[in-house]
Amino acid sequence: MPVSIVPLQGFATGTDTANHAGPIRHISADRIRMRLTFWGAAQQVTGSMFLLEQGDYKILIDCGLDMSRERRQDDYVPTWEPAYDGALFPFDASTISCVLLTHAHLDHSGMLPNLVRAGFEGQIYCTAPTRELTTILLYDSANLHSKKAKALSQKKTKDKAAAQQFNELYFADHVDEVMDRFQQVSLDKPFQLTDTIKVCFYTAGHLLGAGSIYLEVTEGQQVKRIGFSGDLGRYDYPLLVDPAPFPEVDYLICESTYGNRYHTDKGDPVDIMQDVIQRTCVDIPGRLLIPAFSIGRTQAILYTLNRLYSERGFEPIKVFSDSPMALQSTKVFTKYQHQLNGQARKFGQEHNHLFDFENFEFVADPDKSKAINDYNEPCIIISSSGMIKGGRIEYHVKRNIENPYATIFIVGFAPEGTLSHSLIQGQDKIYNEGKEYQVRANIERTDIFSGHADLNGLLKFVGQQDKQRLKHVFLVHGDKEPMLDFASKLRQEGYAGVSAPAPGEAFEL
Ligand SMILES: [Zn+2]
Repeated sequence: MPVSIVPLQGFATGTDTANHAGPIRHISADRIRMRLTFWGAAQQVTGSMFLLEQGDYKILIDCGLDMSRERRQDDYVPTWEPAYDGALFPFDASTISCVLLTHAHLDHSGMLPNLVRAGFEGQIYCTAPTRELTTILLYDSANLHSKKAKALSQKKTKDKAAAQQFNELYFADHVDEVMDRFQQVSLDKPFQLTDTIKVCFYTAGHLLGAGSIYLEVTEGQQVKRIGFSGDLGRYDYPLLVDPAPFPEVDYLICESTYGNRYHTDKGDPVDIMQDVIQRTCVDIPGRLLIPAFSIGRTQAILYTLNRLYSERGFEPIKVFSDSPMALQSTKVFTKYQHQLNGQARKFGQEHNHLFDFENFEFVADPDKSKAINDYNEPCIIISSSGMIKGGRIEYHVKRNIENPYATIFIVGFAPEGTLSHSLIQGQDKIYNEGKEYQVRANIERTDIFSGHADLNGLLKFVGQQDKQRLKHVFLVHGDKEPMLDFASKLRQEGYAGVSAPAPGEAFEL
């Protein structure tokens, strides 16, 4: 895909002249100094990938998997959308000098093995917990890819899209090569990346080890400051430290996942958990299914359950965490307990363990996973994926969806095209692998465990910037509607230069 040199567009809300007159310039062919290209999470949520170039020095900020390319139709059969005409990347990976990785989630890290396969020889800078969580996620992906490869190997000889999808699959030995590239950084401690580029990862509060990235680039007498929010977390979230104050910059690249939404559930997550469990497992002795990401969300839920049982003396109902990846990542959370928030550290000291309590069991073995269905007492089953798109939770949902004594508790992001979205919409039938199921289970929802800042949090983050000094805000990592709404909200607040770049759009800073 060629670099586009189109004017800012798509976000004209009556103030487009101010928008076009902003102090950023599109690429001119003559003298290119610092250039920023939006290769991913551009006008969509997933696939974070931004290329910042200062002459020959090329920094990739995140190298994420674009999950929107795999779509499921009404019958939930996945289809794949090819990109870059068969190439893995829209640029020459061997020319990338280094990667700065904000956090472990696959939509930020999931293309790293392919970057190495495509010739990248540099280092990947991230925090120690990010390195460990990314390792778990990438090996899990490689494992899934091996299964997909078998399914695709027949099809790819006839179908171009299948051939490209096959080409993008990486395996464990590719992940091994990524492991050699990690370079550890500490949160909130600046370091010199090159003679002219200083970098600091600031606590983002979104996931253990997650950072927002600040860059200070010197060009002659001039110093340019650029900030990448990464994914922004919330204040008072279970386990995690609040987002740190972020310094003033000239250019801000800001996520906008919840650019038009406020979280509605407030207060202590233990209260919400207690209420749901009381109604669904005690008043009506039933079974509570909680679809949750294995990394981050599952630990927040386990910690909340531990607090419910330990601090309130609530009868400890049986809890299964049915995910090998949850077991692995919980070990990482325990190892880096000193990086968690004050409440969690204190709880850990007083109760010895953040994630282990009476009647709790991790399930790794696949046969034991299926055997959970034979457990006839009230119980809580936590399993991934969070969106009920793949993973063991699909099996548990299938087995329980027609059971009026079961409840499915949606605690995460539920984008269109996922079963969790269909359930929240109140559909009375769902389809899985071509089979129809009647929805007789109860559906509950909370946003208290959502890992992203809402509109208040986003405005607070941008609000740290001086309106006169900040030259431009680039919105990324959001669907079009929340992005548009967030852009107009920022303009109302007095930020003149706000835009949401299209994929491949490049700017001279
Ligand atoms: Zn994330």
